[in-house]
Amino acid sequence: MPFTKLGLSGALLRAVADQGYTVPTPIQARAIPAVLAGGDLLAGAQTGTGKTAGFVLPILQQLSTRPSPHANGARKPLRVLIVTPTRELCAQVEASVRTYGKHLKVTSTAVFGGVGLGPQASQLRRGVDILVATPGRLLDHQRQRNVDLSRVEILVLDEADRMLDMGFLPDIKRILAMLPRGRQNLLFSATFSDEIKALADKLLDQPQTIEVAPRNSTVDAIAQRVHPVSRDQKSRLLAWLIGHHDWRQVLVFTRTKHGADKVVRSLQADGIGAVALHGNKSQGQRTKALAEFKRGSVEVLVATDIAARGIDIDQLPHVVNYDLPNVPHDYVHRIGRTGRAGADGEAISLMCVDEHAFLRDIERLIKREIRREVIPGFEPDPNEVPQKIFAQRGRGQGQRQHQGAGRGNAGGHAQNGRGRNGSDKRPSPKHGQKRGNGHAGWVAGR
Ligand code: AMP
Repeated sequence: MPFTKLGLSGALLRAVADQGYTVPTPIQARAIPAVLAGGDLLAGAQTGTGKTAGFVLPILQQLSTRPSPHANGARKPLRVLIVTPTRELCAQVEASVRTYGKHLKVTSTAVFGGVGLGPQASQLRRGVDILVATPGRLLDHQRQRNVDLSRVEILVLDEADRMLDMGFLPDIKRILAMLPRGRQNLLFSATFSDEIKALADKLLDQPQTIEVAPRNSTVDAIAQRVHPVSRDQKSRLLAWLIGHHDWRQVLVFTRTKHGADKVVRSLQADGIGAVALHGNKSQGQRTKALAEFKRGSVEVLVATDIAARGIDIDQLPHVVNYDLPNVPHDYVHRIGRTGRAGADGEAISLMCVDEHAFLRDIERLIKREIRREVIPGFEPDPNEVPQKIFAQRGRGQGQRQHQGAGRGNAGGHAQNGRGRNGSDKRPSPKHGQKRGNGHAGWVAGR
């Protein structure tokens, strides 16, 4: 089905065509008519499915066809609120609003933590139609009376599962309490935990439910391989793989921020251009790292799961799991960065003896076995003794760690620049090393 059959206006179709898109993705084909119909929506879709245009396009259509409400005083009323878990996603969603709204007179802005409040405040005080915000920063502005949420017509909670994982439920409840009744609510989530179902029950009124095949069952376009290797040979193997295959654009995932920095240092020592993207980096550093990677001036971007979530890099040819994630869903999110929009991709995992249980959990989740391939010269040491792996964060179902004091909060702090319980202040964990503080999680890597 072409885009032209979805009921979108000429101005929006032109903007879509400018992007080179002709056929809507499955989530777009179903979400666009559903949102245009005006009811609530519960959509199961994750980054990489085209979900952003799936809500941005019909929202823009709604705004441009409905009469603009009268301003109360000087400021024009805020009509659409889109809440996202991370700064990167926030900026990207707002960029999409601008991209698709470029032939319309709709105004938008993004507010997120890690940068000054001042410029955001003046923008908000001038008034915008669409606000894209992370929860903490939105509440900061609300407290300062920079934003009035009482006239919002459409609310979007994007990546709601990730927001709950990051400990944002109290903030979301506070935000919901400020919104008017009778609005349209759209909830997007990659997974449907009991917590998400409870939130949906409370928030949505007779929602239309759309679930596009989650990536964990549509990963056929992605060639997946595991290279078993000794713990201390991973960095050598990574450098070898990059050099041997002449990879020019690789996204590498590590479990920890410290791990990401270590990998960057070791690649740089091997003469490979690498930058890190994680929560200890300032917003400016993160934007710069991403820009360098996209431009091709560095070959490797090394990222932690939360930092990488939502970043918009199209059709990466190679994703490498330097560490296997202890949260199986993270594997699916990670490899979803490659093979996007139908392009082939390759996801490679370096697995040491500590991570066998993680692989088992991942294979159970994706319901398939991933091919193991030992690279000659990098055979794992059969006498290597497994060590426990310190898990930096955890979430919901299927996680291999005890629930401790810092559940999900390290990520919340990292992404939003708001201290939540100080869990980030712990010394950086070193994977592969035994440590224990009685609070944070231990993962048994057998
Ligand atoms: P999203 O899941 O919203 O993060 O989108 C994933 C990527 O798919 C983005 O880089 C979009 O630019 C791209 N995209 C969105 N819609 C389409 C489409 N209909 N055809 C091809 N690519 C698309």
